[in-house]
Amino acid sequence: MSDPTFPLPEAANFIEQIVNEDIAAGKLRPEQVQTRFPPEPNGYLHIGHAKSMFVNFGTALKYGGKCNLFFDDTNPSKEKTEFVDAIRADIRWLGYDWARECYASDFFDTIYEYAERLIREGKAYVCDLSPDEIRATRGTLTEPGTESPYRGRTPEENLRLFRAMRDGQFADGEKCLRAKIDMASPNVNMRDPVIYRILHATHHRTGDKWCIYPMYDYAHPICDYLQGVTHSLCTLEFEDHRPLYDWVGISLGFDPKPRQIEFARLNLTNTVMSKRYLKKLVEEGHVRGWDDPRMPTLSGLRNRGIPAAAVRDFCSRIGVAKANSECEYSYFEACVREYLNAHAERAMAVLSPVRLTVTNYEGEEELSFEINQADEAAGTRAVRFGKHLYIDASDFSLDPPPKYFRLKKDGYVRLKNAYIVHCDDVALNEDGSVKEIFCSYIPESRSGNDTSGIKVKGVIQWVNADDCVPAEVRQYESLLRDADFAGQDFSERMNAQSEKISRAAAEPYLASAADGTPFQLLRTGYYKKCREGDALVLSEIVPLKDNFNKKSK
Ligand code: ATP
Ligand code: MG
Repeated sequence: MSDPTFPLPEAANFIEQIVNEDIAAGKLRPEQVQTRFPPEPNGYLHIGHAKSMFVNFGTALKYGGKCNLFFDDTNPSKEKTEFVDAIRADIRWLGYDWARECYASDFFDTIYEYAERLIREGKAYVCDLSPDEIRATRGTLTEPGTESPYRGRTPEENLRLFRAMRDGQFADGEKCLRAKIDMASPNVNMRDPVIYRILHATHHRTGDKWCIYPMYDYAHPICDYLQGVTHSLCTLEFEDHRPLYDWVGISLGFDPKPRQIEFARLNLTNTVMSKRYLKKLVEEGHVRGWDDPRMPTLSGLRNRGIPAAAVRDFCSRIGVAKANSECEYSYFEACVREYLNAHAERAMAVLSPVRLTVTNYEGEEELSFEINQADEAAGTRAVRFGKHLYIDASDFSLDPPPKYFRLKKDGYVRLKNAYIVHCDDVALNEDGSVKEIFCSYIPESRSGNDTSGIKVKGVIQWVNADDCVPAEVRQYESLLRDADFAGQDFSERMNAQSEKISRAAAEPYLASAADGTPFQLLRTGYYKKCREGDALVLSEIVPLKDNFNKKSK
């Protein structure tokens, strides 16, 4: 896989087929294709949004068109500037840039003017029913709704009342503005939907200028049109809202009318993405913040050390479909692993250090260590080898099962990039655990120049006791214990082991690397190097293949 990777949507996915048809029909030229990425600034972006960005920015890139960053801020009580800033940073991190940044609130004046126009043309009316009454009179999938007693108000009266709403003369929920469409429509969204509501709330951008706010379904097609969006790409749950999207465009005479196209959301196994849920995790203290490395947020992935290129690659591989499905989380991990395998330097650390003394070795020497076997151009660097080493406790067995190829009493193993050693003796602690392993090395078995003729199957990592550095290793598991969410509150499903900390011994090279550098710790996994105060921290990005881990644990 090469880098930088800016994969475009795969050749002619179904969205591109529609765009191609529009171009062929002479509706627009390729470079006029315009999309928008429309987050609501009520939380941080998550990996599902990466797919939406891939589709929106990717489609625009493909045609040489434009993609705007559009903040859907029609819901003032939940929106914050903190989220706006975080969203911007996350989009940039993922590698995308927008043509223009705008907000639904930029268009509030025009959205309001359009509402007056709908009223004057008899297409909208002020309704005094409460939200509950409106819900109760909407009907069901099989029963038509009931017309509001206020439906017959004259345009003059509606205009007067709507202005009074705007001027703050009513309390929240006392009145609303509804589109006058069809209470018997088979599509519930078309049964006189509310298009403006009264909400005495301070907006993060317009302050107290407004006490009425447009509803998403009404505001969105207008904002798309005013930005010049040609193709409004959204997720499948908006499919049933498309007739309303079109109704707004037709009623207001938009030309050219933006076209809404729905695609399937990204769903990942054992991963809950809704912002409501992620927010709860943060607010209830189950995680350290939105960017906790266990979070599926983009800031969490970044903090975890997952490269943006791997996220883009994942999005391009899963493709763009019209039908919902669930993607295995392990597939995402495989994409991350593939990227890191090609790009990450190798290093050695032992998570559970046990002392190993090479009794027949004196002095010390520098051995050559391959920086990345998957990338020959990466070359080699030196590692120090000496008489006193540490190996991982899991690589030695006092009671080895059959076919145990790591170190055992009277057995051989190769120390990675160094020598073959033979275990001569073991000293135990009082509790029976291994205190120290005594080995002799085979001088002719040096890696790269092995003339010993001894065949060993096991290769293990090690660190030099004289210059190794202590490190805190953090390993992660899913935040939730099981895949089945049904019925249970997530707070009862939190995985208490989602973070595991061990005291490791690491090569000094790791301490000298720049903060944030990803490494493959040999036979352990991919880790990000970071520093907290004076402490070296190695934070797990992704384990090595599951089967490998099971074997080595
Ligand atoms: P959430 O349910 O997580 O709060 P949302 O849809 O409310 O998500 P928005 O900020 O409104 O979040 O989303 C911005 C865009 O990202 C929308 O077009 C939305 O459809 C899209 N999006 C959100 N989640 C996903 C997902 N899992 N897969 C693909 N696109 C998504
Ligand atoms: Mg939303």
